[in-house]
Amino acid sequence: MSNLISKYHDELIANAAYIGTPGKGILAADESTGTIGKRLASINVENVETNRRTLRELLFTAPDVLQYLSGVILFEETLYQSTAAGKPFVDVLKEGGVLPGIKVDKGTVELAGTDQETTTQGLDGLAQRCQKYYDAGARFAKWRSVLKIGPNEPSELAIHENAYGLARYAVICQENGLVPIVEPEILVDGPHDIKKNAAVTERVLAAVYKALSDHHVLLEGTLLKPNMVTPGSDSAKVAPEVVAEHTVRALQRTVPAAVPAVVFLSGGQSEEEATLNLNAINQVKGKKPWTLSFSFGRALQQSTLKAWAGKEENVKKAQDALLTRAKGNSEATLGTYKGSAQLGDGASESLHVKDYKY
Ligand code: 13P
Repeated sequence: MSNLISKYHDELIANAAYIGTPGKGILAADESTGTIGKRLASINVENVETNRRTLRELLFTAPDVLQYLSGVILFEETLYQSTAAGKPFVDVLKEGGVLPGIKVDKGTVELAGTDQETTTQGLDGLAQRCQKYYDAGARFAKWRSVLKIGPNEPSELAIHENAYGLARYAVICQENGLVPIVEPEILVDGPHDIKKNAAVTERVLAAVYKALSDHHVLLEGTLLKPNMVTPGSDSAKVAPEVVAEHTVRALQRTVPAAVPAVVFLSGGQSEEEATLNLNAINQVKGKKPWTLSFSFGRALQQSTLKAWAGKEENVKKAQDALLTRAKGNSEATLGTYKGSAQLGDGASESLHVKDYKY
């Protein structure tokens, strides 16, 4: 048997293809309670349930934004929350043509005997949680594996362990009706050049697809969420065309054509940088059998968060900022983004956080 036989077979394929609709992408709003706390602290807002709910309502009800999205990734708490007026967020998204997704990993732990490399936890009880989330309206899932570039990293152990963890997660999701986003994030941290990142990205993605194949994952019912191929954070930046060329080549060499879409993470790039790079990626000529789109967290929310600053009177301004970024990224998936005439406060700011936890 080469592929998973699941009662959800057709639905998985249809939902993965839908998420990959050109012109649409994913808003990653699945920051865990700890991570959203740091974002809220940056605008002096207390990390309590009502404030987290208010921020998420601002995002999901922003006028005209949902047309540019095909999915929103939620943290478990948000999946069960509603607007102030009492409408479940899941219904708000569905009515806007957006599939609700859910973060299902439980964060990372260190791999013993390595230089702070990690593996991702959350396989225990995952099938039951997937069933519960499906019943609550979720149709796709995310699991973030993290690798780093160092003198001897990523190690064979970290590559293997994370690839097989992703594969096991992916097949459990598919058995329970959720399209798995396979996310092997290679952190940008370090002084390496773009060639080094390209070589590591190829090695990691090749291992990930070997593991998915071994586990009989239905590739047509998955999405890949990789880093873009860029120089390390302590190295000089390069033009979007250079990022694009290295990124597309790494994908061509490793990602099967059966995968419907590649949805990049922003990984600490500024909002504008991430959009310009995605646009350049879509302008590369040559073989690109997948939709190339976005699943941005920080690069979709930073100027919105700043504009909001936790104040009711700023909600409209904040929603306008989100619309600017969502529309810009939508254009970037088509390679037609022209750059933003007025950048919102925070749009060019680096969002890099060393050793980022989600
Ligand atoms: P960033 O776009 O902020 O890197 O995060 C996306 C994400 O969902 C990481 O798991």
